[in-house]
Amino acid sequence: MGTILVVAEIQKGAIREASYELVTAARSIADAGGHEVNGLVIGSGIGEFASEFASKGAGKTLVVDDAAAENYNVDVFSKAIKAAAESTGAELILISNTPTGWDVAPRIAAGLDCAFVSDAIKVENGDGGFNFRRRIFNGKLDAEISTSGRTVASMQPGAQTAFEGSSDGSTEALSTDLAATAKFIEIKIAESTGVDLTKADVIVSGGRGVGDPEKFPEVIQPLADALGGAMGASRPVVDAGWLDHPYQVGSSGQIVAPKLYIAAGISGAIQHLVGMKASNFIVAINKDPDAPIFEVADIGVVADLFDIVPALTAAVKDAKG
Ligand SMILES: Cc1cc2nc3c(=O)[nH]c(=O)nc-3n(C[C@H](O)[C@H](O)[C@H](O)COP(=O)(O)OP(=O)(O)OC[C@H]3O[C@@H](n4cnc5c(N)ncnc54)[C@H](O)[C@@H]3O)c2cc1C
Repeated sequence: MGTILVVAEIQKGAIREASYELVTAARSIADAGGHEVNGLVIGSGIGEFASEFASKGAGKTLVVDDAAAENYNVDVFSKAIKAAAESTGAELILISNTPTGWDVAPRIAAGLDCAFVSDAIKVENGDGGFNFRRRIFNGKLDAEISTSGRTVASMQPGAQTAFEGSSDGSTEALSTDLAATAKFIEIKIAESTGVDLTKADVIVSGGRGVGDPEKFPEVIQPLADALGGAMGASRPVVDAGWLDHPYQVGSSGQIVAPKLYIAAGISGAIQHLVGMKASNFIVAINKDPDAPIFEVADIGVVADLFDIVPALTAAVKDAKG
């Protein structure tokens, strides 16, 4: 029976939700027959995380618990993952497509001299390997990729739901040479701008369609204020320097689930959708009737945002008196 190795990622004192999404992907392949799921937890003083991962879906979980792994170091983590893949004979090694995953996953594939698929949204058993789906060209096309033999894959956070079941899991220490050339120096946390979208009940986000940095305070923020909510943005807005990174919603920004999410001038690329599709009620305003954002919207308005957003703001203010 082949093994699927699921690599957990610990962040801010907890196993990331994305790691449990990997468990969902691994379990669906295992349930289709022929594979066992194993977990891997790397760090220092992480016994309780390993037990949690083992009992919440990962099953047998290897633990690399070493002072050298206290902070993320690509040399240490890639050696640990490679050793775990070799000791379990894993055919598929699943890693989240987070900044850590971007860094470490290709190195493991190179070290194991095997196939590598990055940023997959779906994985299934294949003919002698695995079949993957990746979204390309800003979500306009899906690519189907088949691998043969051992495969390392990074999976896009938010593309699966997190595993919520339990498993009979044991933990097993794995010791291996963790000597590193790279040296950990420090982690710098970005200065807070006071924006915490994850706590907002209402988010009004603007995208590239807003077209001008001045229009965010003039058009988008007033609607957010009228609704007692916060302003958000898509990535191009942040990449262009119109707003700071804490405003960004999406796979490389904030993952949010407010009661109301209003997307104005946002096309709905998968990387944006994974950050907001769990919102309770979604309103999309876009000039293009074929924009993918309408697929997740509860109300879709095909119109110019500069007609709709100010009118909405005025209506909300009127309603409040
Ligand atoms: C690894 C990776 C990570 C990424 N992470 C993120 C992320 O975290 N968050 C994120 O958002 N993106 C992310 N992206 C980028 C993502 O793929 C898209 O490029 C991005 O979401 C598009 O932003 P947008 O919808 O604002 O712009 P566009 O795709 O350019 O869409 C603009 C939309 O505005 C509409 N529009 C134009 N003018 C108006 C108007 N006057 N009124 C109404 N509608 C109008 C257009 O019809 C169009 O649909 C990531 C990409 C990669 C590769």
